Amino acid sequence: MAVPICPRCAHDVIESLFLSPVPGVWEVLQCGCCHYCWRTSEPPRRTQRDFYPDTFKMTAEEIGNAPSVPAVPPVRAARSAPTPRLTHPGPAGQTTGDRHE
Ligand SMILES: [Zn+2]
Repeated sequence: MAVPICPRCAHDVIESLFLSPVPGVWEVLQCGCCHYCWRTSEPPRRTQRDFYPDTFKMTAEEIGNAPSVPAVPPVRAARSAPTPRLTHPGPAGQTTGDRHE
């Protein structure tokens, strides 16, 4: 079998993620560029660049310019920890447990 390339982006660094429990039946591969995963037992339209739908093919440039979905919001400024509310029994003799702001 030829050295696999990514069906989606044609990258040639492919990692093996899983092997079938019964040895030699299938392997799950993952592209090191676009992270597309496929099992070698899937049909050619999912496993081979030549048969992969043109609509879903990507170039390295498209991957680099792809937006994050969903968009990741900017990191919020760190806030100081809330001041712990002190609880105290209040004036002598009061037992209602009212809050004292
Ligand atoms: Zn890829």
